[in-house]
Amino acid sequence: MSTPTREIRLAARPHGEPRPTDFELVDVELPDPGADQVLIRNTYMSVDPYMRGRMNDVKSYTPPFQLGAALDGGAVGEVVASNAEGLAVGDVVVHQLGWREHAVLAGKHARKVDPQGLSPSAFLGVLGMPGLTAYAGLLDVAGLKDGDVVFVSGAAGAVGSLAGQIAKLRGHTVIGSAGSAEKVAHVIDDLGFDQAFNYKDGPVTEQLAAAAPDGIDVYFDNVGGEHLEAAIDAFNLHGRAALCGMISNYNATEPNPAPRNMMTLVGKRITLRGFIVTDHAARVKDLIAEVAPAVADGRIRFRETVREGLENAPQAFIDLLRGANTGKMVVKL
Ligand code: NDP
Repeated sequence: MSTPTREIRLAARPHGEPRPTDFELVDVELPDPGADQVLIRNTYMSVDPYMRGRMNDVKSYTPPFQLGAALDGGAVGEVVASNAEGLAVGDVVVHQLGWREHAVLAGKHARKVDPQGLSPSAFLGVLGMPGLTAYAGLLDVAGLKDGDVVFVSGAAGAVGSLAGQIAKLRGHTVIGSAGSAEKVAHVIDDLGFDQAFNYKDGPVTEQLAAAAPDGIDVYFDNVGGEHLEAAIDAFNLHGRAALCGMISNYNATEPNPAPRNMMTLVGKRITLRGFIVTDHAARVKDLIAEVAPAVADGRIRFRETVREGLENAPQAFIDLLRGANTGKMVVKL
């Protein structure tokens, strides 16, 4: 007996900002799970900035989405039928077949999680891939050390909000940037950053210089472009940047001209280091051990922007790239 369900497919490759017509909602029949497989009812799916890059037909660290095929990405759901050892009906699992209401997949590709009173969507955000990105990016890639002054762009987003709070918990001075007055207030008042500014209010270089008069030592870069140029100007000697993402370029149809101050890297002995979260999977246990208790007792706060219904997932994704989210953008299914 098959399962009638729905999925979102890529109908056209976006040029610039994605449009609703680039996506298609399709009714499908899912086969029953075979040997070692599970059937999952997805309860939340993730929309993430990196998905924009996968909509282009270019070689990258992940293969591009295929035209006419279902999109995929992080999802959390409940096992409704299982032929897989170690997974039982009712288990909550995280997996990579999002953008659909049900999924059949090998049990080894579903990771059982214990929500412990949190919404399962937390495993798509603070305790999931974005959380690990913040954790590994700050500690392992930027090599956070005592006394560092830290600048985080995209500070009100899923990754940035956690990166800044981890640095605060470790006693650092933290500065953030975000795209609205409300987000700036959230970053300071709720997340505890020392300073934050709205990058749309004026040149980032000037605003960062004012917020960090003694310079910065670590930059957690979610944005690229003008932000990276500003960070290079603000760096102290031996500054280090974890290059996490460059969202200011994702919908761009022309390459971003900034940063224009690359020679500054030489004189200041600066390190710019890119990374991909999947290389840091071994750190999940440390993330859960350190961040989950801090979330539970309120030392780390996280927000979600929740949209409802698979049919609204494309718009949630479009809006994510426009800055409509505070914290993690998820779609409740
Ligand atoms: P967010 O939750 O931060 O959401 C995206 C945010 O980006 C928006 O809310 C918006 O906030 C901001 N934004 C959009 N356009 C611009 C722009 N032109 N300039 C500055 N900010 C902009 O997303 P995530 O936390 O999930 O991801 C943050 C970054 O981390 C992305 O670059 C992503 O690609 C990267 N990433 C990298 C990974 C890796 O392995 N290297 C893994 C996961 C994420 P605002 O209102 O402030 O503009």
